[in-house]
Amino acid sequence: MTSEGTHAPNPPYPDTAPASEELLRRAREVIPGGVNSPVRAYGSVGGTPRFMVRGEGPWMWDADGRRYVDLVCSWGPMILGHAHPDVARAVRQAAADGFSFGTPSRREVLLAEEIVRRVPSLEQVRLVNSGTEATMSAIRLARGVTGRSAVVKFAGCYHGHVDALLASAGSGVATFGLPDSPGVPASAAGETIVLPYNDLAAVEQAFAERGQQIAAVITEAAPGNMGVVPPAPGFTEGLRRITAEHGALLVSDEVMTGFRASTAGWLGLEGVPASGAPDLFTFGKVMGGGFPAAAFGGRAEVMAMLAPEGPVYQAGTLSGNPVASAAGLATLQACTPQVYARLEEVADALTTAVRDSFGRHGIAHRVQRVGSMFSVFFREGEVRDYDDAREQDAQRFGRFFHAMLRRGVHLPPSCYEVWFVSAAHGDDAVETTVRAIEESAAEIA
Ligand SMILES: *Cc1c(COP(=O)(O)O)cnc(C)c1O
Repeated sequence: MTSEGTHAPNPPYPDTAPASEELLRRAREVIPGGVNSPVRAYGSVGGTPRFMVRGEGPWMWDADGRRYVDLVCSWGPMILGHAHPDVARAVRQAAADGFSFGTPSRREVLLAEEIVRRVPSLEQVRLVNSGTEATMSAIRLARGVTGRSAVVKFAGCYHGHVDALLASAGSGVATFGLPDSPGVPASAAGETIVLPYNDLAAVEQAFAERGQQIAAVITEAAPGNMGVVPPAPGFTEGLRRITAEHGALLVSDEVMTGFRASTAGWLGLEGVPASGAPDLFTFGKVMGGGFPAAAFGGRAEVMAMLAPEGPVYQAGTLSGNPVASAAGLATLQACTPQVYARLEEVADALTTAVRDSFGRHGIAHRVQRVGSMFSVFFREGEVRDYDDAREQDAQRFGRFFHAMLRRGVHLPPSCYEVWFVSAAHGDDAVETTVRAIEESAAEIA
């Protein structure tokens, strides 16, 4: 490597990363922990988070000029890979037309139409800026519509950092929520009932006890935030049936699965339950194409309760931002059947490699998958809920993470996360990853 940086360094990379270490030092001065979202801090794997300077297709480059296969993909949005030419063109065009108006604008209509067109039963959406805002607003709407205040969520499901939804409790029994974070008042968490995932009997029981107080059940359409834990057959349908019987709303959080699991998200894969579609959906990640855009929506009759049509207030200075809308629209328009087919191929190749290499080297593992969304648990046996997910060898994952990083593959820095792939992961990126998996498995065996 020359001092001019004309030669990119090749793997294996050293464990030290001088340019990232210097940026982290500066970041820590002005940003708590040096990061603007905690999981970026490598807290559970140790070491210095790599500061990225550029991305293209499946690759990203850090401040030391090292190239990585990206399996974070911005935690889902970069389904087409980095700096996709069509999206970049749409963003440049939108930016040239002005950044934000604070009036209704054309591009937000196009994005809303595209989302509604893709998702069966969805009639209207309101655009917001983050998945957190989408779930927060959906819960407020559900409370406004029903006049009730309690909310059921499942342990291990993440719905953003909304006060009422941070409680995840997570013991195996039905339990009233305790706040997971200081700063969440017990009064907010106390309206949250946390239940074990995939346990319909627990849902039945909660409704038997407090049915008249429950405004909504919120669930990840297919959970990806405790690792991938598919809903057991009949679970979604059971939630729909029980909520309908008690006059509560069902909120399907498709922020991660939306437009990734299929053109119509998880609903497109599982199909509309025989007992009916969810009342409300939340979207984010892919639909923003890497920009801050998210949405919540449902039937027109429910959405009509929102201001200005109805009494439930919800607003945003930058909501429906034209540049973010352009990125989201261009991304969704580029998400063709070929894109989903490629995502499946990449997921096939990587999950096969994990099973083969981990099997060969005797590393306890369990791969779970919905569509192209998959994660690797460092344990044997089916994972059905959060308690199962937490019984894994997180330390071994940490060693695997760093073995992969040295070989130029950047995994999500936590064993509870999806390995996100993109349609831009070509044969070169896939082969690099498969080789790294084999060598890293040998190293940590
Ligand atoms: C990422 C995520 C959120 C939160 O979205 P942000 O844009 O990070 O606020 C909510 N729900 C699910 C299922 C998610 O995966």
